[in-house]
Amino acid sequence: MAADDRNAFEVYRDRVDRPLLRLFREYGAGEAHWLVIGMAANVVARVAGLVPPVVLGVAIDAVFTGDGPYTLPIVPDAWLPTAGPAQFRLSVVLIVGSFLVTGVFTWIYGIAANNFAHRVMHAVRTDSFDRMQRLDMTFFDDKQTGEVMSVLNNDASNLEVFLDNALQNSARLGVMVAGIAGVLFYYNWELALITLSAIPLMILFTLWFMRAVEPRYVAQRSVVGDLNTALENALSGVELVKTSNTEPYESERVETASHQYFERTMSILRLNYVYRPGMELFAGLAFAATFAVGGYWLSAGPPGPFTTTLTVGTFVTFVLLTQQFVAPLAEVSNIIDQYENAKASCERVFGLRDIPIRITDDSDAVALGGESGSAHGTDGDGGPGDGDAHTHGGVAGAVEYDDVSFAYPENALVDPADAEEEVITDVSFAADPGDTVALVGPTGAGKSTLLKLLLRLYDVTDGAVRVDGRDVRDVAVESLRSAVGYVAQDTTLFDGTIAENVRYGRFTGVDDDVESDAVRERVIEAAKAAEAHEFIDSLPNGYDTRIGEQGVKLSGGQRQRVAIARVVLQDPAILILDEATSAVDTETEMLIQRSLDELAADRTTFVIAHRLSTVTDADTTLVLEDGEVVERGTHDDLLAADGLYAKLWGVQAGEIEELPEAFVDRARERHVDRAVERAVDGEAVESETLDD
Ligand code: ADP
Repeated sequence: MAADDRNAFEVYRDRVDRPLLRLFREYGAGEAHWLVIGMAANVVARVAGLVPPVVLGVAIDAVFTGDGPYTLPIVPDAWLPTAGPAQFRLSVVLIVGSFLVTGVFTWIYGIAANNFAHRVMHAVRTDSFDRMQRLDMTFFDDKQTGEVMSVLNNDASNLEVFLDNALQNSARLGVMVAGIAGVLFYYNWELALITLSAIPLMILFTLWFMRAVEPRYVAQRSVVGDLNTALENALSGVELVKTSNTEPYESERVETASHQYFERTMSILRLNYVYRPGMELFAGLAFAATFAVGGYWLSAGPPGPFTTTLTVGTFVTFVLLTQQFVAPLAEVSNIIDQYENAKASCERVFGLRDIPIRITDDSDAVALGGESGSAHGTDGDGGPGDGDAHTHGGVAGAVEYDDVSFAYPENALVDPADAEEEVITDVSFAADPGDTVALVGPTGAGKSTLLKLLLRLYDVTDGAVRVDGRDVRDVAVESLRSAVGYVAQDTTLFDGTIAENVRYGRFTGVDDDVESDAVRERVIEAAKAAEAHEFIDSLPNGYDTRIGEQGVKLSGGQRQRVAIARVVLQDPAILILDEATSAVDTETEMLIQRSLDELAADRTTFVIAHRLSTVTDADTTLVLEDGEVVERGTHDDLLAADGLYAKLWGVQAGEIEELPEAFVDRARERHVDRAVERAVDGEAVESETLDD
């Protein structure tokens, strides 16, 4: 077991430094013009909002009480009228004008801020998805689907909310506090000291709040993952849940996780219950102090050490502006909430981004088959009938395993040296173009793993896998994978029509009109070759029948035939067939077998065989046990050798009743060892609970 129990995602997430700053640097820079426009418009709108209280105060003094001159900040006195009625009319115009300016600039500001937020988020979302798709299989082995989904969904939305609302609100708050303080000091710095004395207290209070609430947010976040995992498990394993009657158990798991989340959220809210009214109280006190001191000042002259005079107009300006403080200050707790969420989300986004991709093209990687001068190069869309079917895009299909060893990396994304026990040990063999190689052996022997190395889903730990004499690590990954066709045991179909599923991965280039008759013709041709045409044709909408998510509306045999048609279109030089374990009816099996034989005819083919009877014709059969090739040869050779193969054959043909006891024991031991080793603490606890 690795020293560090966290998965790669968690490790890289915890390493992210100043996530929000990074967000602005990496994604905000390109959209900075929107931010600048937005901020500038925001300043104009907020400053215009200060005009009515100021003009009102000035008008009261100059026009109504005659206490002072008609002067305005910034504006030269020479521009201002001297007669009372003209001053009044100007005041009205200024007030109306300032509302217009506020309106127009708030509008501009909204557009700019929205554009900034949503453009940045669009970039973050698509970028994260691209990156995630290129991550190594090792990443996906940890079953982090729920977590990754939540990065692309929840985290992106959290950031959106932050960029859109919190940023706007904090900018508004900043501009207002600075603007109002400026105006107050300009008119009467002594009374301004009284009014603004609440600000340092509010800042201290806010700092206390942030310090107190931060660990609670961290605690809340740590249970979000548990909740997602509980939900995801129950949904993705719904069939198992139903068949094993574990609905109450799953409900309890979700309930436990949800309850924890509830508790932690409430603990954040309890602090909020103190903070929010506290801030309003401070703002209210500032208002009351301004009113009391200002009122006393007006009636009895400057109190205490104060010396300046205060006019009614200035007093009104003070009271109105102090009122304007309150609303944005009450927003501070929301801003903090959004900020905390955004920070955590941003850490996850960059955590995902920072996971290194190890299986990727070297800078000098060349396309497989590219140098042979094939007209097809690497596009791999050679198909039946394009006159090039036998060279398969320039790839001959010679495959060589040279002393290959492999161990699944436990946490190799974090530390490449950190690998588990070897599951493939010193495997060597060679297949000539067109050969059929069968892989047989007990479950867990390493058959699938061996072929995943050919597809370069993982890299060998030792030795080399070569195709046409080239190490698979030196060729462009895309060209390698398009040269290898893969028919899995359990076929994945996507939401879409049958035709779309057949041509999935083919003809998606810009030049190919996917709806064209030519493409359709090739799809049908492929389906015929896969013995799938008849059943597809009998569906209500034929090739345009939509299959539900995961293709649930098709039977296993039908799904597999769609997958075979897909590979017929791909026309790869090398073929990997993972024979289905679940027996389909004999007729279907014959159909599938026939189409597979045809498909395999001129390609190098690897068959993971569960029923030995299907591979008696193979050019070579490799018998794997515990990651090693223990026997090899043709069916007849192997029977003659009377080893493991002969025993397996005997069992399947019904000649021997049971496997030798020693063999069964060995297999059982191996499985128990692995299970114990691989059991993560949580899983072990879980199965215990289930057993109860
Ligand atoms: P087979 O195809 O012969 O049934 P596999 O190649 O699937 O065997 O598995 C070989 C060994 O590798 C088994 O012990 C299995 O538990 C282990 N294994 C398979 N997949 C993974 C994985 N993604 N991560 C870690 N270990 C794995």
